[in-house]
Amino acid sequence: MAEFDYDLFVIGAGSGGVRAARMAANEGAKVAVAEDKDLGGTCVNVGCVPKKLFTYAAHFAGDFEDAEAYGWDVGARDFNWPRLISNKDSEIARLNGIYGRLMDEAGVTLIEGRATLTGANSVTVGETEVTAKYILVATGGHPVVPGFPGNEHVITSDQAFHLEALPQRLVMVGGGYIAVEFAGIFHALGVEVTQLYRGPLFLRGFDHDLREKLAGEMRKQGVDLRFDSQVAKIEKQGDAFKVTLEDGGALETDLVMYATGRAPNTQGLGLETAGVELAENGAVKVDGHFCSSAPSVYALGDVIDRVQLTPVAIAEAMILVDHLFGEGAHAHMSYDNIPSAVFSHPNLATVGLTEEEARKRHGDIEVYVSSFKAMKHTLTGRDETTFMKLVTEPGGGRVLGLHMMGEAAGEIVQGFAVAMICGATKAQFDATIGIHPTSAEEFVTLRTLRKARE
Ligand code: NDP
Repeated sequence: MAEFDYDLFVIGAGSGGVRAARMAANEGAKVAVAEDKDLGGTCVNVGCVPKKLFTYAAHFAGDFEDAEAYGWDVGARDFNWPRLISNKDSEIARLNGIYGRLMDEAGVTLIEGRATLTGANSVTVGETEVTAKYILVATGGHPVVPGFPGNEHVITSDQAFHLEALPQRLVMVGGGYIAVEFAGIFHALGVEVTQLYRGPLFLRGFDHDLREKLAGEMRKQGVDLRFDSQVAKIEKQGDAFKVTLEDGGALETDLVMYATGRAPNTQGLGLETAGVELAENGAVKVDGHFCSSAPSVYALGDVIDRVQLTPVAIAEAMILVDHLFGEGAHAHMSYDNIPSAVFSHPNLATVGLTEEEARKRHGDIEVYVSSFKAMKHTLTGRDETTFMKLVTEPGGGRVLGLHMMGEAAGEIVQGFAVAMICGATKAQFDATIGIHPTSAEEFVTLRTLRKARE
């Protein structure tokens, strides 16, 4: 008889958990996954997927306006939020089903319910106790709202995906991916948006030029962007809310959304019974092989709070499965040159070092920038800047950072990210023929050096 019921027991059927389960099963392991919510985790249910669908909806607003310059009479336009929500929900239900089928086809046992560790090799789900050689904690994270008077009145991204109606006015608090993306979505859908960020410039950690350029574009569009602004309290006033700021100012609004970060889901999992150590913020502490302080318990994805991105969780899962059940050929995860996009209006995308990081690490660097109006807007007259930036070693050396603001930035930067992983040099970028006419060709035609700023 086998020593354990399963070779691998995964807690959480999100992007990382499902990928690990399927890949381990493909390697011949006996695998179960426990999930107490819809399959697919944050990304599928209340993250990347519905957010991207919302951004498509939002971009139509500008597309209809732009179409007229190209000869189209678009006619009366009306936006139906409940229809968008309902179509989005159908698509997500379809994806939930696909996740179930993929696991089924791989031979993974799905156990519906909340799993709790009862030891280093045992888990209970409901009344059932099972044992496993390895337990993988892939429970993701949840939005956090700071403590202040009136914080019970705010919503987070979890609720934003299920609003019954669009508010007329919205106060968005935060300056990260989610706040910026939702500010753009709601604004384009006709909501009066005020975005409050506690620091001097939002999107901390992104290239400074990119942050400034996006702030400029959002302000031009009419988003009321307020930096160095903190909420002191929120009071309900009839159907509306009064938001009092720490500087004494006040705003009246119909909805307040907080996007002030996410915390790991490690509460109530029984991790302490297995001797799993947590970091101060509740994240599972893991080593280079995603092993926790308990040798049989592993963790990956948002719950380890390294990089909270779906493709990173998936990559971590592949590496872990290779380490536990495969040949171990790709046993280490590199967190360098991870490309990412902010689906703001316009989009941002980035890979590699910011100018500030590059200068700190490499000292002598070269910076190339280009700011222009995309060809599409020569006819529409839309006042929207496309911005591109390369940060390189001097004299045609390696490209250290590549940043873009503009339409399809994510699609464009994804391709360049491969070049970055290959260690592409500025000389090789220069030797690459552009595809004309595109915005992306700017990245291979940048020749004028911008003097590095102090
Ligand atoms: P982020 O960590 O990106 O941003 C949090 C923001 O909230 C920061 O601007 C932060 O300010 C601010 N903040 C934190 N605490 C407080 C506070 N007490 N009061 C006021 N402001 C505060 O988190 P998000 O919630 O936006 O997103 C979570 C993660 O999800 C992201 O980091 C990202 O990894 C992932 N994500 C990725 C997307 C994508 O790939 N397109 C889209 C959406 C999410 P400060 O900078 O000063 O700390």
